[in-house]
Amino acid sequence: MHYRSREVVQVRSAYDCDVLVIGGGIVGLSTAYAVTRAAPGTRVTVLEKEQGPARHQTGRNSGVIHSGVYYRPGSLKARYAVRGAAEMVKFCAEYDIPHAVTGKLIVATEKAELPRLHALVQRGRENGIPVRELGPAQIIEAEPEVRGLAAIHVGTTGVCDYGAVARQLGEASGADIRYGADVVRIDRRPDLGAAVRTADGTIVRGRVLVNCAGLHCDETARLAGDDPEMRIVPFRGEYFTLARPEL
Ligand SMILES: Cc1cc2nc3c(=O)[nH]c(=O)nc-3n(C[C@H](O)[C@H](O)[C@H](O)COP(=O)(O)OP(=O)(O)OC[C@H]3O[C@@H](n4cnc5c(N)ncnc54)[C@H](O)[C@@H]3O)c2cc1C
Repeated sequence: MHYRSREVVQVRSAYDCDVLVIGGGIVGLSTAYAVTRAAPGTRVTVLEKEQGPARHQTGRNSGVIHSGVYYRPGSLKARYAVRGAAEMVKFCAEYDIPHAVTGKLIVATEKAELPRLHALVQRGRENGIPVRELGPAQIIEAEPEVRGLAAIHVGTTGVCDYGAVARQLGEASGADIRYGADVVRIDRRPDLGAAVRTADGTIVRGRVLVNCAGLHCDETARLAGDDPEMRIVPFRGEYFTLARPEL
């Protein structure tokens, strides 16, 4: 028995960590957070190629806490979105991260859109989301710049600072987060976990590898010897802030 526990210690120390996460966006950092919460003492290392967290999608998105109103009732997406929205608000409040539950309007501007709008009301209610139907006058009351035939007010939609959320998830996880660590090679062996090499030649070994490389996750999967049978083709977009014209 004594011998076996020494053996376990020896095997464990051959790894730099138990769980090795590639990617320091919200998915990688929440993975680190969830693992250390679920199994305290688990050694998690996150490798992120940029010099800080959330430099890609996570820090450049629209900042919307989605309600889950569009998803098929009973589906995993619907359940996770509804619960995730509530958890996100709680997380922001707990760590003092800027957020607001503003609600949102989904507006029908043409008659042909009305059946779809009514179907969404039904969906929202089945998903347990507070939805209210509005007529033209109520739309203007809620959003003076908006015109429509009918609308739904979705109560649980909000906004938050996802960059700050990601940073906080990383800190609260207690994981070893290494920035400037661009994974360029992955050596995966059955029953032996994975060893990765970063661009500066550092080798990190983990018992388990989790690919959270966002829009590069197809390339990372290929590095690990998997064929994801698809290729992610990113494209660039721009956000504009609309100013009210001078009258
Ligand atoms: C324009 C836009 C708007 C969006 N708006 C919203 C919204 O309002 N609300 C919402 O909930 N969702 C929104 N999303 C979706 C959401 O932003 C993403 O689902 C989420 O940020 C994905 O997180 P991620 O961690 O998977 O990816 P990312 O945030 O892209 O993180 C992946 C990380 O992996 C790192 N990485 C990649 N390759 C390597 C490597 N080889 N070695 C080391 N690190 C590596 C990258 O540097 C990056 O930091 C939006 C997405 C986009 C593109």
